Amino acid sequence: MATMYAAVWHGPGQENFRLELIERPEPGPGEVLLQVRRCFFCAMHARAVLVGHAKHYPPTIFGRMLAGDVASVGANVTNLKLGTRVTVNPERPCGTCFYCLRQEFGHCLNPIQLRPGGMAEFVCIPEPLVNGIYELPSSIPYEFAAYTETLACVLQGIDLSGITLSDCVVIMGDGGVGLTFLQLVRLRGATKVILAGKHEGALQAALRLGASRVVNVTQDSLLEVVREETQGYGADVAIEAVGSSHTYEQMLTLLRCGGTGIGFGGMPLGTTFQGDPNLIHYRSLKILGSYRYSPDHFRQALDLICTKQIDLGPIVTHQVPFSSLTTQAVEIHSQPDCRALVIDMDKKP
Ligand SMILES: [Zn+2]
Repeated sequence: MATMYAAVWHGPGQENFRLELIERPEPGPGEVLLQVRRCFFCAMHARAVLVGHAKHYPPTIFGRMLAGDVASVGANVTNLKLGTRVTVNPERPCGTCFYCLRQEFGHCLNPIQLRPGGMAEFVCIPEPLVNGIYELPSSIPYEFAAYTETLACVLQGIDLSGITLSDCVVIMGDGGVGLTFLQLVRLRGATKVILAGKHEGALQAALRLGASRVVNVTQDSLLEVVREETQGYGADVAIEAVGSSHTYEQMLTLLRCGGTGIGFGGMPLGTTFQGDPNLIHYRSLKILGSYRYSPDHFRQALDLICTKQIDLGPIVTHQVPFSSLTTQAVEIHSQPDCRALVIDMDKKP
């Protein structure tokens, strides 16, 4: 039996997240085996390791955002050569459920998902996901290609926002997602982009990436800055990319009449918020939530990465070797200057 190392999650508790030698999968007919080269460790994984997760049941292998090489192919797979550098869309909507029939693919009731995931030396791509495998140009590093899913989610938020030429946009959040929004907002033609956060290094990076103005909310009032920059009217669009009830409340106060708020950040179960409903009513605000993405967003996101329209250098800030993933990733992920943490799968146990 061929074996491989995998990071297996056995439930909450750091000691239950372990590197183990397990059976290496063999691709069946129509399937493709990838050798994983880079895979992201994100906030969801850190939370699952520390306190558990409502939608994942142990034991399992995490990792949806990955890139690697084609290692072997099953019968009937003729379009992928061994050794080709690729990334894969880890999810495909069913196409037939209540939401898919309404083109709301992000809410598909029966999506086909990549499970087990990519925190292993090899991952088997099931037949329904094989047409979501994309070849990468040699100039694009694996860690940038592996970021495609996050960019796809942000793209959906941008589509919902309706941002257009000469808009004023406020982004709340200076993490990797906030800096990703910033670049897409500029690509969409907004001329004034105000980014708010708490980390001086990230705010400086935001200025280099094209923010018109940054606000350190531990020192200055975002509301005052937005009023000053918009002659008192408020922003055309405000994006919540923090995931806190305070910023959701604040979003309502930053918008002009008829403005659009995008709720992107997720929060722990049971979180509530208090906003002034009169702001929504009298100012005719449009408050929209954005969650997940469509297959087309994934394709567009990868195109933006491969054509270098998006600078992921300041976003993918940290790496952890696969050999110390289970002991170090949670701690590295919690560092204030960590915007996205990628696992270097080449550094094996
Ligand atoms: Zn569906």
